[in-house]
Amino acid sequence: MCGIVGYVGSQQAAPILLDGLSKLEYRGYDSAGLAVRNGTEETEVIKAKGRLKVLFEKTNGGAAVPGTCGIGHTRWATHGEPSDVNSHPHSGGRVTIVHNGIIENYKELKNYLLSKGVTFDSDTDTEVAAKLLDYNYNGSPLDTIAETIRDLEGSYALGILFADHPGEVYAVRRESPLIVGLGKGESFIASDVPAILKYTRNVYYIGNMEM
Ligand code: GLU
Repeated sequence: MCGIVGYVGSQQAAPILLDGLSKLEYRGYDSAGLAVRNGTEETEVIKAKGRLKVLFEKTNGGAAVPGTCGIGHTRWATHGEPSDVNSHPHSGGRVTIVHNGIIENYKELKNYLLSKGVTFDSDTDTEVAAKLLDYNYNGSPLDTIAETIRDLEGSYALGILFADHPGEVYAVRRESPLIVGLGKGESFIASDVPAILKYTRNVYYIGNMEM
């Protein structure tokens, strides 16, 4: 197990993501990372093997990655050793994701994408999901997610950013837990309630295969 936190609102996202991830440390992890979007600027991804403290220091407590929209992750490696490269978020070009769970058929999907000329940087099953989302992307995040999850076997909670949809975080899950928190003018996603309890008690449990 491990954790996901996402934020969209008017506050700075990175400190909230780091704080939320610290509340999920009990779930265990070996590395951590963030993707933050500052308006329409390019998504910035920072990740590091090791304790959350390493990511905290690398981002100056989040101050080094300004922006009001983002996703964060603590990883428990299942595919690919704990390393900076294998840490999440993973990008597929126009799509950046964090993932908890295991994509069981990642090898078959990876071979398919390789045959189409798609390249990979990491050893993770997660990067395959990111690249498949990007490969399928047709300008509609919801259609693309729906199409992509038809091909994904296994378990996943996904937090997703699309480059041409700034200020939006998409989420979908199957078997792995994920909730939505609604605040005043801000929204959250998280693997578990403690990550966002400080900000809202208005929590929605995302259903299985619900986006
Ligand atoms: N299977 C993915 C990986 O190894 C996600 C692991 C997790 O749930 O943190 O990167």
